Amino acid sequence: MSTRAGIVVTGTEVLTGRVADKNGPWLADRLLELGIELAHITICGDRPADIAAQLAFLATEGVDLIITSGGLGPTADDLTVDTVAGFCGRKMVLDTALEERIADILRKLVSRMPDIDFDDVRTANRKQAIVPEGATVLEPIGTAPGVVVTPVTGGGPTVVVLPGPPRELQAMWPAALSTEALQAAISGRVHYRQDTIRMFGPAESALAEALRVAERDITGFGGLEITTCLRRAELEIVTRYEPGAADAYAALLAHLRERFGDAVYSTDGTTVDQQVAALLAGHWAATAESCTGGLVAGRLTDLAGSSAYLAGGVVSYSNAAKSELLGVDPALIETHGAVSEQVAEAMAAGALRRFGADIAVSTTGIAGPGGGSAEKPVGTVCFGVAMTGRPPVLRTVRLPGNRTDVRERSTTIALHLLRRTLLDANQPG
Ligand code: ATP
Ligand code: MG
Repeated sequence: MSTRAGIVVTGTEVLTGRVADKNGPWLADRLLELGIELAHITICGDRPADIAAQLAFLATEGVDLIITSGGLGPTADDLTVDTVAGFCGRKMVLDTALEERIADILRKLVSRMPDIDFDDVRTANRKQAIVPEGATVLEPIGTAPGVVVTPVTGGGPTVVVLPGPPRELQAMWPAALSTEALQAAISGRVHYRQDTIRMFGPAESALAEALRVAERDITGFGGLEITTCLRRAELEIVTRYEPGAADAYAALLAHLRERFGDAVYSTDGTTVDQQVAALLAGHWAATAESCTGGLVAGRLTDLAGSSAYLAGGVVSYSNAAKSELLGVDPALIETHGAVSEQVAEAMAAGALRRFGADIAVSTTGIAGPGGGSAEKPVGTVCFGVAMTGRPPVLRTVRLPGNRTDVRERSTTIALHLLRRTLLDANQPG
């Protein structure tokens, strides 16, 4: 049996949705890497009674480990450590050596702020040096130390208390992981592997059917814990398995490849964005976007850091902008409409010229209500890829969903068209 854990995210700002929780998902990934089964992530406000209730709930669920985030600050409303001490049956005691270390940190901070009196700060921060008796202290990343606390009676879960700011929590995690108390709590764990397959094209229902067949035909399929989800218009299949089930996983992958062919475009965890970024090395790219409003250029630059391969992009909504900035012939728009493969082709060719690029992608479509017609309803999007020395690649699709869905899916499709074009161009002969 594997070790089970729970995460308690505290903070009224997270509970109310003013700040989106970053710590739960980040810690979930770390636990997964360790082969620890995550049973629950709970979110509560800053009230001690609510935090205590979450801890009690997770204890009755039989988890071996609880990780909390938030509420370590110097102010009176930061009470997580206190609450955890109560939960573990531990007294709070002043750690004088820790108090001195915190004072050193504060002295440096305060020396840059002439209006603040060091003694006031020091008194307020004394609270942070009061820790549960017997706890392992995790040195502060900011000013707040974390703690790892084991229950005084034995038998209950070990609790790791981490700060709320994601940067501090992440930086403190390695220290938490190396403590004896945490290692003892997770010693029973099984090592899992986790692999990700990404597919572009097939519907979710087709994947579900393929998995039903796999379940029937593949020996050891039961040893694979498969989760599938639709993300950014792609299917993502994450499989967790014990090393002994590696053959079953290989059979699953072969089965999906046989059924879906090239639609299975990634088996090593890479995203289409990463693959396109790698393929664009040595190229000079441009974008001409209408319905995606700059999202394609955004995703292309996200990974490049600097604009290593993106010369630039035009976002053109009006026909005049398409003509003036991208050189699209107004007669073409008049004849075929702005949402047409002819215009998509001219936009891509225009971006190629305008930016002196060697590859360009264009999108033109009807993403939201208002612009549709019987012939071209909302969700109709045309794409073009122009590449020097190659015939243009053109596509028309009709996408379901609201404006945000259509934009996101269109952006993913544009990236896949770039990927396909670059792969074909690399093909010898
Ligand atoms: P501080 O000393 O800053 O008060 P703390 O450990 O008490 O640290 P919190 O008061 O809970 O932490 O949170 C401080 C800030 O960190 C929050 O205002 C928020 O901006 C950010 N933060 C806290 N928890 C999360 C979370 N789960 N996800 C994202 N951001 C968070
Ligand atoms: Mg705080």
